[in-house]
Amino acid sequence: MSEPLRSHAGRTIADLKALAALTSTADGAQRIAWAQTWRDAREWFRQQVEPLGLAIETDAAGNNWVRLEGDSPDTVIIGGHLDSVPNGGWLDGALGVMAGLAALRLYAGKRPVRSIAVVDWADEEGARFGRSLLGSSAASGSLDVNEVRALTDSMGISLPDALRENGIDLDRMREAHTALKKIRAHAYLELHIEQGPVLEAMNKPTGVVLGTFGVERHMIRFVGQAAHSGSTPIPMRRDAFLAAAETALACREIARRYTTPDARVVCTAGVVKVEPGIVTAVPGVCEMSLDQRALDAPVLARMLADAKAASEKAARENNVSVEWRTLWRIEPRPFDPRLIELCADAVREVTGDAPRLPSGPLHDAAEMVPHMPVVMMFAYSSNGLSHCKEEDTPEPYLLQTIEAFLRLVRSTTDARI
Ligand SMILES: [Zn+2]
Repeated sequence: MSEPLRSHAGRTIADLKALAALTSTADGAQRIAWAQTWRDAREWFRQQVEPLGLAIETDAAGNNWVRLEGDSPDTVIIGGHLDSVPNGGWLDGALGVMAGLAALRLYAGKRPVRSIAVVDWADEEGARFGRSLLGSSAASGSLDVNEVRALTDSMGISLPDALRENGIDLDRMREAHTALKKIRAHAYLELHIEQGPVLEAMNKPTGVVLGTFGVERHMIRFVGQAAHSGSTPIPMRRDAFLAAAETALACREIARRYTTPDARVVCTAGVVKVEPGIVTAVPGVCEMSLDQRALDAPVLARMLADAKAASEKAARENNVSVEWRTLWRIEPRPFDPRLIELCADAVREVTGDAPRLPSGPLHDAAEMVPHMPVVMMFAYSSNGLSHCKEEDTPEPYLLQTIEAFLRLVRSTTDARI
């Protein structure tokens, strides 16, 4: 155990508590991107950075960067986000930024071998306008500004207006990509709370993240015939709901079939809409959502093909028709194998073990995968909860996790790879 790193980790927890005190109500964190409390959080962060003799630079997408020069222009980027969902937790996003601050303190006044850049991504959550990863996707070049131009919040304020209020011009946001390309990125590191129950189930404080899941998200529409529930014999029915129900169960079996001890996959039927929606009518139409996720692209493709086959079988057996409509898809973003090993070393050195897991939620890190080697580290989530005021990591586990992350920062910055 390294005392200096452990004391840096202790200070980081104090920082997180101070930020929470400044930006939360009794219902949780209120750092909604582009709003006043978020700006307060960023001002607080600036006040922490200034005494280190470092300055914050805001790029064209509103991402805040702090750079500490090393001997080499090759740069280790440490990312996180200060924005939260309404009534959010104290660790989601903020943990990554505060771990970056700890890294800056670790090297302040010294000259590391490689340079360090800490980035606070703007609007990771998409809580107000519904577009997640806004700042990081602008930096990665994947943002289509015309797709988000018409977005409005619940008050009717448009995204371009909210951006303008923060000094950001939507049509210039992608200049953040030009700026990112100028950085000689050696590695991108992000520490985040897991937001799920996997580490808790293993009772491990810290996990090595293998990548972010690819997602296949579709609506499946079954059409049969609405009919009287008393007069229509079961063999003569064309029940659209039953076809959907059989498909949902089949999809669960598909997910079970593709899950191995090292490669978990998931699927969810989160929306089911039945017409006519009357207790005395056989459902004539049923629309169901399907969200499938996996880290391995060929596995995800096979899961989708199997689900389509299952829906066609269920449609045939219930004498209904079936149609698929794609809502959204993203390919899996596996992280860098060498950084995964370095991350595992750091986690093992501090906690004695280095469990590996994929990330179900997307993160800013996923946007960086096409551009540089990336890895993430996860902290244990109490009760698997996140995006709520109950979100927590027990303090001894949080200390260990931050210490492990600082070890990872050290091994990437001080030229072990
Ligand atoms: Zn987050």
